[in-house]
Amino acid sequence: MGAPGRQYAGRVSRKVLILGAGFAGLELSTMLSEELGDEVEVTVIDRGNGFSFGYSKLDMLFRAASLDSVQIPYSNFTKSGVTLVREEITAIDPETRTVTTDAGTHTADVLVIALGADYDLDATPGLAEYGHEFYSFAGAEAAAGPIGEFNSGKAVIAVCGAPFKCPPAPSECALMLSDELTRRGVRDECEITLTMPLPSPVPPSPETSAALKAEFAERGIEFFGDKRPERVEPGRIIYRDGTELPFDLLLGVPKHRAPDVVIASGMTEDGYVTVDSATLKSKYENVYAVGDVATAGVPKAGVFSEGAAKVVARELIAEARGEEPPAPYDGKGSCYIEFGEDRIARVDIDFLSGPERTGVFNAPSLELRDQKNQFGSSRESRWFGL
Ligand SMILES: Cc1cc2nc3c(=O)[nH]c(=O)nc-3n(C[C@H](O)[C@H](O)[C@H](O)COP(=O)(O)OP(=O)(O)OC[C@H]3O[C@@H](n4cnc5c(N)ncnc54)[C@H](O)[C@@H]3O)c2cc1C
Repeated sequence: MGAPGRQYAGRVSRKVLILGAGFAGLELSTMLSEELGDEVEVTVIDRGNGFSFGYSKLDMLFRAASLDSVQIPYSNFTKSGVTLVREEITAIDPETRTVTTDAGTHTADVLVIALGADYDLDATPGLAEYGHEFYSFAGAEAAAGPIGEFNSGKAVIAVCGAPFKCPPAPSECALMLSDELTRRGVRDECEITLTMPLPSPVPPSPETSAALKAEFAERGIEFFGDKRPERVEPGRIIYRDGTELPFDLLLGVPKHRAPDVVIASGMTEDGYVTVDSATLKSKYENVYAVGDVATAGVPKAGVFSEGAAKVVARELIAEARGEEPPAPYDGKGSCYIEFGEDRIARVDIDFLSGPERTGVFNAPSLELRDQKNQFGSSRESRWFGL
């Protein structure tokens, strides 16, 4: 029996338009293809050439990986019932579910915004001129050179705003930088400092924060929480609390916000699209927002984008079959953390299913590296058949 009021079952195919082919867009379109095949007409729009895992940026900084080597071309994405087009989205009208791109116009019965979070370098004057952001692929590629030439002095890793993608990543960067300098025999000539607007490295998991801080202490990395840069001048960061920090090498995480095209659509509040955390529905009819672009009460990380996309997929599949709506989004996900010396830790986050947010820490080990590798290779094979 179909759920009351869900009249779509049995109708001819509906048009689903997915904006963005990152973690969220790839998982959503894969599930729709697997379950509904040609029963739905799915179009995915992305301006990029291919998909890369966010953590590849650390491989570009510290493991000499090139952009080409970490990118999987979208030409490998072939799914029944799904068309992936490479176009730049220039306007979104959520009322009419019409999307304008540099190649034309798309309209849909269901619109899913999965455009990720963008960076606002101008929010921290001087960051682009005097520092190196490493959160974009171009930025990571450009920062690898100065890191390789850094042999003495003060290195600062500064996070300029919150929320930001993958909360452990700046800590991973500090530990991997320490390893890199040790490997080159110049660690004693260098200081490493990490600053964040958050009070601790991974606030939802006190255990993870404590383990990271212990690792920092062992390696002589200084950590300062609750610090938000106001601006950057040549060789120094001025923080909003009036303090300053000198640097010879600045690796910055820019303030984040939804892409301009999403902000211009009028869908955002405080920089992101507001959604119902349980269903990922926006306030517009048949318009969802998933992943980093949305405010769903979960951290900004690929694994959460993917989890939210699964909920939307289940909802659309249930609608197509006239079934009951799926269980609400549970906000669960595991993040792997580079702890240096090739060890990996894991934090298991649960933000929405219980009365309290939890973050269980799994101590670093070489074995967990295999799990992280498996995390990547399983997505490569599921989405791209590799
Ligand atoms: C250093 C670093 C390490 C990380 N490590 C991890 C990790 O270990 N685990 C983890 O789970 N996450 C990690 N992340 C975070 C992860 O990369 C992101 O949270 C994830 O990619 C978000 O997925 P998404 O689908 O929401 O958006 P995205 O993956 O950002 O996808 C959005 C897509 O939209 C497209 N797009 C944007 N604007 C337009 C436009 N105007 N027109 C057309 N297309 C457009 C983009 O090209 C992009 O492909 C890390 C991030 C960084 C920076």
